[in-house]
Amino acid sequence: MERQGNVTQPPENEMDKLLGQMKSATSRLREVLRDLHDRLVTRLDGHIADYIPELATANPQHFGITLCTIDGQIVEAGDYLQQFTIQSVSKPFVFGMALEEHGVDHVLSKVGVEPTGEAFNSIVLDEASNRPFNPMVNAGAIATADLIPGKDYPERVKNLLQTFSNYCGRPVHVDNAVFMSERLTGHRNRAMAHLMRNFGMVSDRFEDSLELYFQQCSIAVTAHDLAVMGATLARGGVNPLTNVKAISAANVKYLLSAMLTCGMYDFAGEWAFRVGLPAKSGVAGGIVVVIPGVAGIGLYSPLLDSKGNSIRGVEACLELSKRFGLHAFEQGFEGPTLRSQLQSSRGRHSQS
Ligand code: GLN
Repeated sequence: MERQGNVTQPPENEMDKLLGQMKSATSRLREVLRDLHDRLVTRLDGHIADYIPELATANPQHFGITLCTIDGQIVEAGDYLQQFTIQSVSKPFVFGMALEEHGVDHVLSKVGVEPTGEAFNSIVLDEASNRPFNPMVNAGAIATADLIPGKDYPERVKNLLQTFSNYCGRPVHVDNAVFMSERLTGHRNRAMAHLMRNFGMVSDRFEDSLELYFQQCSIAVTAHDLAVMGATLARGGVNPLTNVKAISAANVKYLLSAMLTCGMYDFAGEWAFRVGLPAKSGVAGGIVVVIPGVAGIGLYSPLLDSKGNSIRGVEACLELSKRFGLHAFEQGFEGPTLRSQLQSSRGRHSQS
């Protein structure tokens, strides 16, 4: 109490100066993102997912992009506050919940970590082990949802939403229209769950787990939220805006490696090759990208390519990775890196 009373607030003009410095620290990046947004927003090719009827109502014009650094600086452009459902972007985060609760050995006895090269909804299990191939395809995600902790369904839903709220730094909710649409049309996912029950890969509460899977896919987020979620992983599991721990640092590496190898559907190999960053996309048009130790990027544009990835989102990431040498295996990059740009612009302004 007393300490609080003794804290001296900086005078107002000092405060303005500080805010000005924080703003200008990111102004160059803001220009880069705006320019990228303005060039890509004119692209209107691709299709909106309609196999879940409610997703078909998305507006093809929408395009938002946010970058959030591990120290909480945010740069954004376009429709970054437009809400959409997280869909498959939820998968690594629920994989993380399973790891936190059960440990890596148990989780890997239920789901593998091998890329499939097949569509996200393929009904295939590893012939030798009967496991789904990885947690980023639907079968693997349903097996992972089965590991969400809690004594009953309501408690498991609460845990799910609490975890996503920790990652986003705000309370999240489920878009009920999409949730209903998913469960009414999710026959293929139900078939997979039954097949996995047959092989003992999911527990006898698998029907609740399926509902949890539909719930996790229907969580409403924005590009801004995805950037904060990505930045939380980039920072080893601690949310840069709230300092709340969403996952332990020891498990973050498992999420990131599964995202790098399996996060972009059957484009995952080429993505790892060209962009070289852990990422996950969803059929509503969201993508989360993690630049470990640096920042998270969130993108939203509902127009998808034939593999189910957001066209503008992928294009933006290809450009950003190249421009700032973000590829994980980049050596001796000569241009300005994202980090140096943030630091140098900050240095520049703190001198003025
Ligand atoms: N809920 C969607 C489904 O199960 C998620 C798919 C996705 O984003 N790839 O079909």
